[in-house]
Amino acid sequence: MPVQTKADVVVIGAGIVGAMSALHLQQQGRNVVILDRTGPAAGASAGNAGILAFPEIIPIPSPGVMFKAPKWLLDPLGPLSIRPAYALKIAPWLWHFWRASSRKVFEQGIVTQAAMMELAAVEMARIRAIPELAPFFDNTGTLDLYDSEESFDAAAHDWREKEKAGFEFRRVNRKEIEELQPGLAPQFQHAMYSVSGVQINDPKEFTRAVCAQAEAAGAALRIADVTDIAATGDSATITLANGETIEAGTVVLAGGAWSKKLTARLGDRVPLDTERGYNTTLPSQSFNLKRQLYFNDHAFVVTPLSHGIRVGGAVELGGLDLPPNYNRSKSLLAKAGRFLPELDTRGGTEWMGFRPSLPDCLPVIGYSKASRSVVYAFGHGHLGLTQSAATGKLVSDLVAGRATGMSLAPFRPDRFN
Ligand SMILES: Cc1cc2nc3c(=O)[nH]c(=O)nc-3n(C[C@H](O)[C@H](O)[C@H](O)COP(=O)(O)OP(=O)(O)OC[C@H]3O[C@@H](n4cnc5c(N)ncnc54)[C@H](O)[C@@H]3O)c2cc1C
Repeated sequence: MPVQTKADVVVIGAGIVGAMSALHLQQQGRNVVILDRTGPAAGASAGNAGILAFPEIIPIPSPGVMFKAPKWLLDPLGPLSIRPAYALKIAPWLWHFWRASSRKVFEQGIVTQAAMMELAAVEMARIRAIPELAPFFDNTGTLDLYDSEESFDAAAHDWREKEKAGFEFRRVNRKEIEELQPGLAPQFQHAMYSVSGVQINDPKEFTRAVCAQAEAAGAALRIADVTDIAATGDSATITLANGETIEAGTVVLAGGAWSKKLTARLGDRVPLDTERGYNTTLPSQSFNLKRQLYFNDHAFVVTPLSHGIRVGGAVELGGLDLPPNYNRSKSLLAKAGRFLPELDTRGGTEWMGFRPSLPDCLPVIGYSKASRSVVYAFGHGHLGLTQSAATGKLVSDLVAGRATGMSLAPFRPDRFN
């Protein structure tokens, strides 16, 4: 006889979004079971750059982006690539991306992201106040570097929008750049410095620690592969790979880039795909890195972690199944070596992760059309760590049926239909 159990709330996925959702729900007095087929921090949350990128309110699909894309695509190891074997499959996603790049949708996206980031900063401050989690936060400040005055000027609109949203930063000249980060190649004469730049110094251990906090508050963590969800009246039933079923008052789907199969089981058509990203983590002694460095014209970052220096970024559209192409991380590392001539690029560990991405670069946070007993929380793309605590708060409001305090219309699962 297959085992049948009952639960109050089941969270599928122990990445940073699932962990934050579980912690918030448990703090609100719910009884949570967290299920992950591998364990905490098995996906994108393990190897990201660790940046709490609250000022990143500018959507990637922007007017004119489709004119820039072909130039990037010409360089097979450039900031954006499409794996030939995946080109047809990604076409519908790219069509939605193109539609999201209209001026109207882009400007609405800035308003939405600004509101989400305001909540993200408030909720992450609450997480930082937990003594066991506070040591993961570092206030390093952020240096945004540009190759030329022309590219610096081209970013003026984005900086104006960030200023309007209340973020503080200042333009710095070469002398100040050298003080903020000695050892940068002379081409970097133009930069913006954000003194309030914050980061998580070990994203993998942070995710595990958030999970551990949820467990300490009473949540149960189980290794289990969820193969099906069905909405059954005012509850939902999930099926595990071993045949076991769990009937839950509410299921929160936070399965990152792998969430789409389960949404389809509930009849929701969500154009979730993945923007694969690559990086290399070098030993700490590789360079005297003072703070996060964004190389804006090359779409990659260098961040100081507690256990090393992480060099990475870029976007590869290639789905969930194709093998990694580590020439991409090698290419980013080689560029970093040119931009930071004293960087020792030997002895690193390469990694590829699956950003869970919707074409408009906004997450899905909302109820399944099948039932309010299924809440979706996935698709945070480049910003999942940054927006994880805010998502946890919104998820716990949805589970409780409370008003969320901000409109979730831009995050609706059916917004592309
Ligand atoms: C190179 C790179 C750099 C990045 N840098 C940053 C950054 O600096 N700042 C930032 O904010 N964001 C960054 N991101 C994005 C961020 O990492 C992601 O948005 C975030 O980690 C997504 O979290 P998640 O919990 O939704 O998904 P994941 O971390 O991928 O977790 C999903 C979990 O669900 C589990 N799962 C899935 N399906 C099932 C199933 N059926 N049954 C059981 N378990 C299941 C998986 O095992 C996994 O553990 C970066 C991403 C990449 C790739």
